[in-house]
Amino acid sequence: MEQELHRLKQEAEEALRQVGDAAQLEAFRVKYLGRKGGLLSGLMRQLGTVAPQDRPRLGQLANDAKQAVEDLFEEKKMLLTASIVGSATGAIDYSLPGRYLPYGKLHPVTQVMEEICSIFEGLGFAVAEGPDVETDYYNFEALNIPKHHPARDMHDTFYVTESILLRTHTSPMQARIMEKQEPPLRYIAPGKVYRCDSDITHTPMFHQVEGFLVDKEVSFADLKGVLTSFTHKMFERELALRFRPSFFPFTEPSAEVDIACVICGGKGCRVCKRTGWLEILGSGLIDPEVLKMVGYNPDIYSGFAFGLGVERIAMLKYGIDDIRLYYENDLRFLSQF
Ligand SMILES: [Zn+2]
Repeated sequence: MEQELHRLKQEAEEALRQVGDAAQLEAFRVKYLGRKGGLLSGLMRQLGTVAPQDRPRLGQLANDAKQAVEDLFEEKKMLLTASIVGSATGAIDYSLPGRYLPYGKLHPVTQVMEEICSIFEGLGFAVAEGPDVETDYYNFEALNIPKHHPARDMHDTFYVTESILLRTHTSPMQARIMEKQEPPLRYIAPGKVYRCDSDITHTPMFHQVEGFLVDKEVSFADLKGVLTSFTHKMFERELALRFRPSFFPFTEPSAEVDIACVICGGKGCRVCKRTGWLEILGSGLIDPEVLKMVGYNPDIYSGFAFGLGVERIAMLKYGIDDIRLYYENDLRFLSQF
């Protein structure tokens, strides 16, 4: 019996060394340590058959052997558990770098919109927001664009009903503010605008910031000063500005404003179509008809207005060549800003 015990203990130790996973470990436990049918337990039961005088010594030996195998079993179990936990979470190697948690950021259009607003606030302009769903009156008529005026064709309007529409610019805020307040006024109106148009430089919804100033003796020089100051801050350098004569029904005279190309500095490149100039906004002195419509006397008051596309400014600032990238929600694109 003593030899049998010794042999079984060695066999169990060898078997335990071969165990490589939890299933094998359980099979080992059943085979050697199981209460019913386990080889070691079976041997313990045989103690009843040995001579009474040998029983205490053999009993002690059997217990020791069983305890030794049980200790080895527990040790093996701990090792296996640790390797599973270790491989699953990497928690064992404390020298590994921490895990990167991606965090949310504002959309580039929102960032640029906020930057534009903060520059104009620095110049003394207040911020006003109005409804996206607008009446035909504020979107067109109050801005000197009566029904059947050809300028309406430029707007590609989404109509809700005959007199309700999605605003095509943020200029309606001009009329809404002017009819409630007396000059002097200095406002910018940021927001979404809608036009039925879509290609690499147009999306059906885009963002605009409208700005206007009304006071006594406002001249084109004031408009030029404000816009020059704005573009220098926005593009963080002193880019040349160019005012080109243009036409808008609600300003007279009107001008489109170009800046020296931010990519080539005016030498000519693909982005500026070899002209050296980039168009960034439309502007002009507020048409006296618009001032009359809200009850201001154009002989006393004058003002200027401008409207700029936020996506356009962001494209120039960040060198983005397709406006649709803003609306595809591709994190690889968005996380660069
Ligand atoms: Zn260029």
